[in-house]
Amino acid sequence: MKDIYNSGSFEQLWQEEAEIKTRVQNRLFCITFLVCNPLSSIAFFLSGDPFFYTLLSTHLLSGAIILGYMFLNYRKVISGQQMSFYTFSTLILFYTFLLSKPHLSYVQSCLNLTLAVIFAGLVLRWPLRYGVIVSAMGLLLYPASIHFLSDTSLSEFFEQGGVFVMAAHVLFPFIVKMNYNKDKREFYFRYTLQQQNDALERQKTIAEQATKAKTDFLSMMSHEIRTPLNGIVGMVHLMMQEEEHSEKPNDLLKTLKFSADHLMAVVNDVLDFNKINSNHVVLDPQPFNPFEFFDILKKTFDPKANEKGIALAFSIDTGLPAQLVADRLRLSQVLTNLIHNAIKFTANGSVTLDVREVARTPEATALDFVVADTGIGIPKSEQAGIFEIFTQVRTRTHSDSVSGTGLGLAISRELMRLFGTEIHLESEENKGSRFSFRLSLPYSEQPLAPRRPVTPVVAEEIPEVRVLVADDNKTNLVLATQLLKRRNILHDTASNGREAYEMFSRNRYDLVLMDLRMPVMDGFESTALIRELNPHVPIIALTASAFENEKERAMANGFSGYFIKPFIPQDFYDYIFPFLGIAVK
Ligand code: ADP
Repeated sequence: MKDIYNSGSFEQLWQEEAEIKTRVQNRLFCITFLVCNPLSSIAFFLSGDPFFYTLLSTHLLSGAIILGYMFLNYRKVISGQQMSFYTFSTLILFYTFLLSKPHLSYVQSCLNLTLAVIFAGLVLRWPLRYGVIVSAMGLLLYPASIHFLSDTSLSEFFEQGGVFVMAAHVLFPFIVKMNYNKDKREFYFRYTLQQQNDALERQKTIAEQATKAKTDFLSMMSHEIRTPLNGIVGMVHLMMQEEEHSEKPNDLLKTLKFSADHLMAVVNDVLDFNKINSNHVVLDPQPFNPFEFFDILKKTFDPKANEKGIALAFSIDTGLPAQLVADRLRLSQVLTNLIHNAIKFTANGSVTLDVREVARTPEATALDFVVADTGIGIPKSEQAGIFEIFTQVRTRTHSDSVSGTGLGLAISRELMRLFGTEIHLESEENKGSRFSFRLSLPYSEQPLAPRRPVTPVVAEEIPEVRVLVADDNKTNLVLATQLLKRRNILHDTASNGREAYEMFSRNRYDLVLMDLRMPVMDGFESTALIRELNPHVPIIALTASAFENEKERAMANGFSGYFIKPFIPQDFYDYIFPFLGIAVK
């Protein structure tokens, strides 16, 4: 720290600062003497002292010189500090001359000189050398002038106030130096604080850039990973379907399917977490029927619970409002994760979801959600960190079937924070776990209008349907066409946007599955051209992109749907069938 204080660069900065800081004081100092000196001679005029004439003419002359210094300063020939220093030095010379003139009494002059030094000491901030020079001049010249040039004795001068003039001059350099140092120290603290601020600001920018780079990298990488992953997952699922009919089940294939599904879950979780963490997830609250919601949720888990031989019970408050308003998908994601974990970590006993209404106002209803299980529980020591990313309780031996990404609870916690609540955990080892949270949701007692049913048509009955698939990735193209073929849906393929457009202009299609990034012509351009030919045909973007705004961009640019790769076959059918008017089975 001290090194900075004494460094040349700091000194130079301080000089500049001192010049600016003392500008007003230096001018005030000069102007005061310019005005007050001639005025001070009035006292002599009134008392009829002939000394008045000498005094006035001397002061007018010194005033002219001071004006000259001020002009030089104005033209930046001399600094403000120099201007006040020259002014004071000049005044001392003039005062020395005046003191040599015959005086009736030195009282008035000594009073004036003392006041002048006090005023200078209050106003000026000088380095020590200026103060010492000025004081030395006063201390030497005043007595010398009295002693050698006037008829008065030095002792008479001292008795009539000269001693105060001398004392003021002795103190003067220390006072101006003290003020000067005080200002310099203050500036030093401001300067170092500013430097620290700048350093922090730079570090903050670097950290922000690093976070953004990380997010972009993850989004970019995940796109690169998801494209081939879609091929792998899809192909494995297709092979498994074929295996089902074979006599000797292939264990290797089963393992491959497990690994592919797991890899897909990891990639999707990492992306989801990344998205939430970079504030890219915005909740989309919509009204929904809570009873229907919990019913579907239960049906999803029934097979898994049955398979493990554990009881799965949902206890839903029957007095819930007919409609709740919330982001149904995100709520379901959190509950799915909690119930999935509960089943995963429970070997026997039960898993329950309890939903209770605890309060209601005209605007909102407060609901308590509890997911409880009688499973292996979580040791106390692990509970605090369980919501951190990639945390898994490793003390137990996990079989393959209970491995996970370690991201589920971290994602759930972040999602619940978006909902404005926290997830609480109570758990005892080997007794079970209980995850709970309270949500306050807008509601309505009006039953929701029933959803428009899709005309149920069975796939086999609509052989006329024809789909165009555009993708530059061969594996994904094969996968999509295989999936369509298995449901007897006619299809054609195109390997880029231009080809897709040309094929569309020649044939009639009921649906277009369009990859977004393709060589020659991308999915956006191709869709824009197809829309000119047919504004109504459903065009679904089929993409591995994880860039947040791409979905909005697609939906605003003529696409009818947006489906993310990698996907499992059933999800693919579930998504595209409604566009073809085929009932989802
Ligand atoms: P994972 O994908 O590994 O399940 P989570 O974030 O969902 O990731 O869970 C983190 C860890 O918390 C799990 O690996 C498990 O050790 C523990 N855990 C979560 N839920 C339960 C539960 N209901 N019972 C026992 N342990 C649990």
